Amino acid sequence: MRSPGLIVFLILLCSGANFSFKEPPTYTKADLLGDINPAEHRDFKKLRSKYTTKENAYLRDEVYDAFKGMWKAAEDDGIRLIIVSATRNRSYQSGIWNRKWTSFGGDENTRAERILQYSSMPGTSRHHWGTDFDLNALENSYFENGEGLKIYTWLSTNAAKFGFYQPYIAFNNYREQGYREEKWHWSYFPLASKFQRAYNHLVEYGDLKGFDGDQYANKLEVIDAYVNGVDAWPNKGN
Ligand SMILES: [Zn+2]
Repeated sequence: MRSPGLIVFLILLCSGANFSFKEPPTYTKADLLGDINPAEHRDFKKLRSKYTTKENAYLRDEVYDAFKGMWKAAEDDGIRLIIVSATRNRSYQSGIWNRKWTSFGGDENTRAERILQYSSMPGTSRHHWGTDFDLNALENSYFENGEGLKIYTWLSTNAAKFGFYQPYIAFNNYREQGYREEKWHWSYFPLASKFQRAYNHLVEYGDLKGFDGDQYANKLEVIDAYVNGVDAWPNKGN
């Protein structure tokens, strides 16, 4: 015989299950640390050639959709946005890092700090997340006059309407540490902010291993200084 207690229990059980489906997506350590292959990851899409200079460039679906909207609006205003680098996994980043470690001189601590002016330690890059990309040219000077300045001015005015912002802006009262300014690097805040929060919950310095000079991850506190050394969302007051 069914008791009312059992029915109440079943209702609670079901609502509990429903509630869990509404939880925000959780990211695995592999997603956060870039131990992924975007070509085989169901949440990523390959970019069409009109959006990128790369043969194989990938972004998360949601980010790609938002980028396409921004790209079209830019095109309507006579601005041509082109992605020169999108998702990079940890092993790719290790290649960049180890090459610089070998070619940069100086004592190890200084060397790590010099590489970190513009390059991430493997496992700490926002490019691992599929939420961030580099646009048009990897030099601030490109964006300071002529066509580059037009592009940068357009992005500064319009990118936030599509969810994008420049996390590595010049140091300011809010952003006091981390990489130098990168006018080319843009981030999809609605998703990247979730990744950053998850990163701070799940990743530890013990996860940042397996590359030259990896002991400097902890010594230089790269999670605090670099992963979290980003600007605030520009419309945060709205
Ligand atoms: Zn970048």
